[in-house]
Amino acid sequence: MSFAADADHAAGAGPGPQDGPAPSGHLTAEEFRRQGHQVIDWIAEYWESVAERPVLSQVGPGQVRSALPDGLPEQGESLENVIADLDEILLPGITHWQHPRFFAYFPANSTPASVLGDLLSSGIGAQGMLWATSPAVTELEQQVLDSFAAVLGLPQAFSSSGAGGGVIQDTASTSTFTALLAALHRVSGGAARADGLGAGRYAVYGSSQAHSSLLKAAMMAGLGERSLRSLPVEPFTQQLDVAALDAAIRADLAAGITPVMIQAAVGTTGTGAVDPVRAMGSLAQEFGIWLHVDAAWAGVAAVCPELRWVIDGVGEFADSFVTNPHKWLLTTFDCSTFWVRDRSALIGALSILPEYLRNPASESGAVVDYRDWHPQLGRRFRALKLWTVLRSYGVAGLQQHIRAGVQQARRVADLVLQDEQLVFAAPPVLGLVTFRLADRPELAPAEADRLLLAAMHAVNASGIAYFSHAQVDGRAVIRWAVGGWRTTVDDVEIAWQALAAQIRSAL
Ligand SMILES: *Cc1c(COP(=O)(O)O)cnc(C)c1O
Repeated sequence: MSFAADADHAAGAGPGPQDGPAPSGHLTAEEFRRQGHQVIDWIAEYWESVAERPVLSQVGPGQVRSALPDGLPEQGESLENVIADLDEILLPGITHWQHPRFFAYFPANSTPASVLGDLLSSGIGAQGMLWATSPAVTELEQQVLDSFAAVLGLPQAFSSSGAGGGVIQDTASTSTFTALLAALHRVSGGAARADGLGAGRYAVYGSSQAHSSLLKAAMMAGLGERSLRSLPVEPFTQQLDVAALDAAIRADLAAGITPVMIQAAVGTTGTGAVDPVRAMGSLAQEFGIWLHVDAAWAGVAAVCPELRWVIDGVGEFADSFVTNPHKWLLTTFDCSTFWVRDRSALIGALSILPEYLRNPASESGAVVDYRDWHPQLGRRFRALKLWTVLRSYGVAGLQQHIRAGVQQARRVADLVLQDEQLVFAAPPVLGLVTFRLADRPELAPAEADRLLLAAMHAVNASGIAYFSHAQVDGRAVIRWAVGGWRTTVDDVEIAWQALAAQIRSAL
């Protein structure tokens, strides 16, 4: 992994003082090529050897910081020095998300194709805030999101050729926030934007298992924490209780409070629960409430026709839909694809036109200016990264990756089923299995929870695999999320051996 040691690309002239930065401080084109090759070699070697590293970083607080060089150099240094510190100081402080036995949270796949696409985008370094600031940035993004929507089986209404359209956001959190702003704009007839919000006037609905970004969106939008109706879920399945939603809407209306948005979670973060989108959608339709579907992790599974149930109801009912290629779908962070059925609410909420951004193309109305589609102005050329991934894998390759994850999760589920010490905490969904210790008369629930988490932490500390936990129906559970691009069934078996051994010895 040593950067300086690899002289293959030095074309005869090994790295030496004469190869440092040019007097301007910029690398010469020749140096950029040489160092660029070495960086790519570094990454390839990192991936090839990552399985031998402990998944979870083993450093303590302050350990990395205290090892870092003090301050900043007065004169520029060579990249070799940076890479040496990366190897020696930073890598021990990295938790390896690309490790094949990273099973915590959700996968954050950083595949070779996506890294190359990201690099090309960085090299071009274009700002796509307006169509006019680089037409290809906008038009590729429209083309990619229209075709990706078709591959996912999303409704024609979400296509840019109709009234809707798609945009790449940095994260699902931003997508949800953006959806809420558009919903607020629509429900208030534009008044929310002009006048701000009176306390206790608006309500937002989601299940108690909804991602925290929903609460955060309500806070950021000025609705206040108390605007969020955190509704109960069905036992075990963890799906939103539709009767409770119906009652909450009616109670709010009776109290003169305006319902703004219902969020349906397709694949909750805790257990992967899929809310009843169709039933929630009928309520949204009946009361004229914006329906946002948060399918950040699970939505990409719709690339497989047999998994397209994950977007059931979206076509008929959703006003907006978000899924993150930067989780399961092989695209290095950040890349969150977000679609709206009617872009006018979105643009109505977020458009601004300072003089310095005026230009004939925008004024002609013939182009899309994505700066009106999200909170920030500047935007990266993320479409190039996603396009690189989608073309590099092809639909068949994407499907193969998703199916491999589902297959591995099935193996995890089988192992849990066959172990009488364990029970599912919720139904396994796609690439996520959640489980806890089975109830036994001699083991109090709180003690069982403590033992389970101790076993999980022991595996994490061993570096063999990495799991995270959640609370489900008041009980501690282990979440086992598969879907990493380097994960094989063998990795599942190795991780299972380690976890089962810890659980046996804890009991
Ligand atoms: C991961 C996740 C989010 C947050 O995603 P970011 O892109 O990190 O903001 C939101 N909702 C669900 C259901 C998630 O799984």
